[in-house]
Amino acid sequence: MKFTVLAQDGEARSGVMNLTNGDVKTPVFMPVGTYGAVKGITTNVLSEVKAQIILGNTFHLWLRPGVDIVDKFKGLHRFMGWNRPILTDSGGFQVWSLGKLRKITEKGVFFKSPLNGDSLFLSPEESMKIQKILNSDISMVFDECTDWPISKSQAYDSMQLSLRWAERSKVSFGEKNSLFGIVQGSMFEDLRRESLNGLINLKFDGYAIGGLSVGESKDDMLRILKSLVPIMPQNKPRYLMGVGTPEDLVEGVLNGVDMFDCVLPTRNARNGWLYTKYGNLKIRNARFSSDKAPIDNSCGCPVCGSNFFYSRAYIHHLQKINEMLGSVLTTTHNLWFYLDLMRQMREAIEKKNFSSWRQDFYYKRSVGV
Ligand SMILES: [Zn+2]
Repeated sequence: MKFTVLAQDGEARSGVMNLTNGDVKTPVFMPVGTYGAVKGITTNVLSEVKAQIILGNTFHLWLRPGVDIVDKFKGLHRFMGWNRPILTDSGGFQVWSLGKLRKITEKGVFFKSPLNGDSLFLSPEESMKIQKILNSDISMVFDECTDWPISKSQAYDSMQLSLRWAERSKVSFGEKNSLFGIVQGSMFEDLRRESLNGLINLKFDGYAIGGLSVGESKDDMLRILKSLVPIMPQNKPRYLMGVGTPEDLVEGVLNGVDMFDCVLPTRNARNGWLYTKYGNLKIRNARFSSDKAPIDNSCGCPVCGSNFFYSRAYIHHLQKINEMLGSVLTTTHNLWFYLDLMRQMREAIEKKNFSSWRQDFYYKRSVGV
């Protein structure tokens, strides 16, 4: 892949990644499609809300439908009907989430299937094999997501194991499409630096920051970002994994991050928690039961933006009766909000007014709906 920084404003930067299945403008937010589906949303709607790249979960797709099925379609794109770029995680995070059900060894991770209790094994080599069959535009190295909180010596051992696995991932992956390394080291700045330097020596196409948003304070997350991002390679994409709220994205971009993914906009949409320019709203709240306004009258999404828009009252009603259309509409709106936020940030960086844009963003978000 090729990555070009097009504009810079302070640490914030905009650029473009040329990937196998298309170009992606950064900074970018990647909607999460765990099982090869962004819940409730067709790929046509994903295009309508201007998604450029989506994320698939290696671990879940490996269990269901299984790689043999996806292989018959020569990859996930054709299987799910999405002809733009896809990034897949390595399965490391999901295996970590299994907690006591897993046993970590140098070779890889032995665990019981959460579906049927079968004994399963995932290693750097297995994860690369699966991601190559999924034919992801960007694959991620298999790493150990470090527990938090943790002692420094345990964080060091875990970071070193991830580095050895990163090397095995790289060797086994070969040259197909792109492979990103993942920086670990918990909340210890020197361990993070050591992890980054080890990965840089292995030469990856991009570098991700893993092991954040695991329960630490916002201050800890920002401290790690501020110390780590400026020393990450300038000419490679920087990806902050699993983050976050609209405000987290703004702070990530401010500090020089290029890529984000998170389940928040889609999961919250299904629970009726909606994002707007003037703050968040809970559409199930009784005060919206006869509200004729759209979710956000400044929003250009297919739900709010047409002349014959869907009202808050109608969406409130759909959510109250658990009609699936309610989730479809709220997910469409929330994804638009996130993706349009990224577009606004790219534009502000290009115009070199990111700082005043950010002030205005915080001011409006504090007004309240
Ligand atoms: Zn909208």
